Amino acid sequence: MNISGAWDRAARGAMLLGEDGGLKPTIFAEMSALAAATGAINLGQGFPDEDGPVEVLDAARRAIGDGFNQYPPATGYPVLREAIAAHQRRFYGLDPDPDREVLVTAGATEALAATILALVDDGDEVVTLEPFYDSYAAMIGLARGIHRTVGLRTPDFQPDHDELRRVITDRTRLILINNPHNPTGAVLRRDTLQLLVELAHQHDAVIVTDEVYEHLTFGAEHVPVASLPGGWDRTVTISSGGKTFNTTGWKIGWLTAPAELVEAILAVKQFLTFVNGAPFQPAIAVGLGLPDTFFAGLADGLRRKRDVLSSGLREAGFAVSESQGSYFVIADAAPLGFADADALCRRLPELAGVVAVPISAFVADENKHEYASLLRFAFCKRVDVLERASAQLARLGG
Ligand code: PMP
Ligand code: GLN
Repeated sequence: MNISGAWDRAARGAMLLGEDGGLKPTIFAEMSALAAATGAINLGQGFPDEDGPVEVLDAARRAIGDGFNQYPPATGYPVLREAIAAHQRRFYGLDPDPDREVLVTAGATEALAATILALVDDGDEVVTLEPFYDSYAAMIGLARGIHRTVGLRTPDFQPDHDELRRVITDRTRLILINNPHNPTGAVLRRDTLQLLVELAHQHDAVIVTDEVYEHLTFGAEHVPVASLPGGWDRTVTISSGGKTFNTTGWKIGWLTAPAELVEAILAVKQFLTFVNGAPFQPAIAVGLGLPDTFFAGLADGLRRKRDVLSSGLREAGFAVSESQGSYFVIADAAPLGFADADALCRRLPELAGVVAVPISAFVADENKHEYASLLRFAFCKRVDVLERASAQLARLGG
């Protein structure tokens, strides 16, 4: 059987193939498998270890009983599209039309995939921040786009404005950002976002903004690009219920954008999954309608977890960046004498009974040296688990 064509296409997505030419699992799958095999505490793949709001879980159970078990409409059930529109209005003063400017997707992952496949042509440039979430490079590759990056560097991981002006050009089709940012925990400043809007207008580019951690910020204000002057008209805003409601396995995501963009993206999306997660859609609608106290409590609870893990990492001897958002923190292992975070992550279960993810997995080959000693730890775990991980990591300084 000749499947070389399939491998060729897959190989176009940077990072899809291993050095032996075979399938390369994502860093998250690889590190979760390592945690499972060794019994180490998994602070690698980002998923919470506790259930989310009971109202949301109960609503899903009810929806199954109430017959939400067949294909939803292609754009998602109206109850969820209306809840998404109401959420954008409540938190950001945006007013998307639930029928034409909201699209429910199989997680943020499908929203990203369909958007990139719909909007990027052979040879179009896509600018992302670096480090970047792994699916960005893969999808840009599969769309035959050219991936350009703007580096985020310690200590605050904010992009340099001159570099943005240099890298975003008339060849740029998409400016693909992630805010709050995985893996650095940076929350982009309003003036940076406003500059991106100006550059998108100047170069006729579309902004795609992955805001899955929109409610997980610690003091820094989350500003959606679409809410800025001139922002809405050329922005696709992507989010997901997974992070906000501790339901990463449900894969209910969505995007909001002007109707003509939604239509182009839907044209692709209908042949990816068509639709997904029928009973979970009304449940996420219930979640989006929870009172403000729920959303504030979410960030407060995570802030405490961030503080527990960050101080544990510092005590263990890492240099730790301050995470302003998401559920990740970056730690530099250089002060502990480890220059290669990739190698350290593979030994960390044996050395400390903990799993983390090397930042090199979020970086293009030519730039890996800049981030070589950095690791990402997830703090969306119970406080007692974070305390135990901290105590075990203290062995490293040993
Ligand atoms: N974007 C970012 C930045 C993420 O961290 C993740 C997953 N954690 C996703 C997208 C994918 O979200 P989903 O699980 O909803 O597909
Ligand atoms: N987004 C999660 C993370 O960054 C993982 C999602 C996945 O495994 N694809 O850890």
